[in-house]
Amino acid sequence: MSDTSQNSDRSQDPPDSGFGFATRAIHVGQDPEAITGAVTVPVFQTSTFAQESVGKHSGYEYARTGNPTRTALETALASLEGASFGVAFASGMAAEDAILRLLEPGDHVVIGNDAYGGTFRLISKIFTKVGITFSSHDLGAPSELAENWPAKTKMVWAETPTNPLLNIVDLEALAAVVHANDARLIADNTFATSYLQQPLHWGADAVVHSTTKYIGGHSDVVGGFVATNDPVIDTHLRFIQNSVGAVPGPWDCYLTLRGVKTLAVRMDRHNSNAARLVELLVNHPAVGTVLYPGLPTHPGHEVAARQMSGFGGMISFRAAGGRDAAMKIIESTRLFTLAESLGAVESLIEHPGVMTHASTAGSPLEVPDDLVRLSVGIEDIDDLVADLEHALDS
Ligand SMILES: *Cc1c(COP(=O)(O)O)cnc(C)c1O
Repeated sequence: MSDTSQNSDRSQDPPDSGFGFATRAIHVGQDPEAITGAVTVPVFQTSTFAQESVGKHSGYEYARTGNPTRTALETALASLEGASFGVAFASGMAAEDAILRLLEPGDHVVIGNDAYGGTFRLISKIFTKVGITFSSHDLGAPSELAENWPAKTKMVWAETPTNPLLNIVDLEALAAVVHANDARLIADNTFATSYLQQPLHWGADAVVHSTTKYIGGHSDVVGGFVATNDPVIDTHLRFIQNSVGAVPGPWDCYLTLRGVKTLAVRMDRHNSNAARLVELLVNHPAVGTVLYPGLPTHPGHEVAARQMSGFGGMISFRAAGGRDAAMKIIESTRLFTLAESLGAVESLIEHPGVMTHASTAGSPLEVPDDLVRLSVGIEDIDDLVADLEHALDS
């Protein structure tokens, strides 16, 4: 089938549809279904679509290339990111892989010096095999990158806040440096979500999400998404989506769409719960440095306050007693579940050095071994405070 047929039929809402964020999350791309009036976007569990005559079809031919449940998800998420185009993938890593395929052999990609472990692994273990080089930099200092701009850099890959150190990158300042050097800025917006931060507004060329996290929000589905206003990037992504085929199934799209409807209310609660727990942490003797962009002492606080509309639900901190104390805290909580991942309704606790970021061990991206990461959920705050206090006291 042709690679562009779905493109011509895609009707993305313009970024300025006039409605607020929470309204768009519930309505954009999600009109009642035409035949029955079903209020919820149906799960189109089909692999192919009947054609009226050869080449004459509804806009859908084969479900790798396009599926109406996926179109609804892509349209809604693009609108939330203030983007003209959105492309969904089977996972956040599949979405990253699709963007990185913009690079050609010989190109260089710059990543942050505390990039997400999976991003580091994908670039260092897979993309270097096809002649792409990379280097890691402190993206919190765009002027330093400008002075030490690596030759042949075509792409800069930024996260803000970063995972798991919660460093902040000034996207506007970084975009200016990247564009002055004819490269593209890609922003991983998984931690902040489109509700708290819209990187395209600050100059990013594309935004990537692991929708597995806050957007899905319920720890029941894995997915990825890319938003862009650049038709060249959109065409590339559509081509990769169809050619490589790392597409989300209709049930996954349905679950993600169901999750995103409540993103705004969930994020408000994640924000307020995290802020309360930070108060507990900064005053507790078992806790060393607390990494949270909402703290006025955080080096990125000013930028975060300008660039984000809230500080999010992720907190990292260093255990005052070192690695063993960190392990003890992590294994002593009852409500905070010991697990990888983040961004869902339930609170999670983990040890990045051994768990999510093990792939960075021995590299310049290695994280401290006394680091504890919290994904603060939306439970009753008093219960979360009591649970964490009990674990710290032990
Ligand atoms: C989880 C995560 C990813 C990868 O997404 P998957 O859906 O797990 O493939 C990428 N970036 C960040 C910041 C993440 O937290």
